[in-house]
Amino acid sequence: MCASRQPGPGRPLHGIGRGVIVGPPELALGDARRRSYEPLWLPRRGFLRAAFALALSPLLRYVPAHAGTPLDIAEIAPGVFVHQGRYEMQSPDNCGDMANASFVVGRDAVAVIDTLGSAVVGRELRNCILAVTDKPFRYVVNTHMHPDHVFGNAAFKEDKPVFVANHKLARGLSSRAEHYLAVNKQMLGPDAFEGIEVILPTLPVDGTLSLDLGGRTLICQTEPTAHTDNDLTVTDTLTDTLFLGDLLFSVHVPTLDGSSRGWLALIDDFEKRKAARVVPGHGPHAMQLPDALEPEKRYLTAIATDIRELIKQDKTLEDATRSAGAEERDKWMLFQDYHVRNVTAAFAELEWE
Ligand SMILES: [Zn+2]
Repeated sequence: MCASRQPGPGRPLHGIGRGVIVGPPELALGDARRRSYEPLWLPRRGFLRAAFALALSPLLRYVPAHAGTPLDIAEIAPGVFVHQGRYEMQSPDNCGDMANASFVVGRDAVAVIDTLGSAVVGRELRNCILAVTDKPFRYVVNTHMHPDHVFGNAAFKEDKPVFVANHKLARGLSSRAEHYLAVNKQMLGPDAFEGIEVILPTLPVDGTLSLDLGGRTLICQTEPTAHTDNDLTVTDTLTDTLFLGDLLFSVHVPTLDGSSRGWLALIDDFEKRKAARVVPGHGPHAMQLPDALEPEKRYLTAIATDIRELIKQDKTLEDATRSAGAEERDKWMLFQDYHVRNVTAAFAELEWE
């Protein structure tokens, strides 16, 4: 059994227990807490199926989760639910629960946005959704190709949803699938790796696409190469909630698998956007623009600036991995695990400027 079922060190829990939070935080919490939303958790006691309807009332802040729901879920806006993953590398202990996963409930159907990093935690996410709604799973949207966001897809296969992603995801994921599977098999161990399948999108998006859930629409938008070459953002128009996937990292160091220049340009664009709230791929359940982008922008700018200077001085990649962005070391979790890879990717990109 995954330790994701148990509160533990490194787990982003607040308060006294675990459960489903309901009610939009901006209604449930005072102004002072609006910018850094810290959810409170109730211990799980039993589940009130009727609670979902009541959840839309700002008077009711929190409702105990179903006794059988394994993951913590917060309702960040009416009908918009987010699970916050751990700030960890994948392991037998966390079963690949290390990214955020969300779902949006409409009048007729539900859409899942990212499915976590294994079929095991994907099933736990699916159980959480079933505890909140009996609406059919119409769409599973992947924000990009990385395993911590797509390897839970297999858990939803039986529901026969439409799998939605950037049209470039299939190529990127297919070419890396063998490597992703080998690495995750080794890091997750046999139990947590069980059931993982590479599931490619059945509805590729190039540009903008609307998904109808009945009474609410999700707008999917492919983005230029930044974090990867296949990022996709999603807006729930009913609540003006923008899901940025891994185009927004908070606390967890950004991971660069696309273009540092492209990412910084996109951040400039996001800074001008208006949204009631944004959901990062890694970080708190919900954040506010433009402040949420600031640390990520600082990190990517530091790397790019230092690397350009080193290239000008004819320094090598090895020099860059030692010094570029070094002042960011204590500002992020998992810096040791990803920073050298980020510098390597940015160096390869920027040396050809
Ligand atoms: Zn991720």
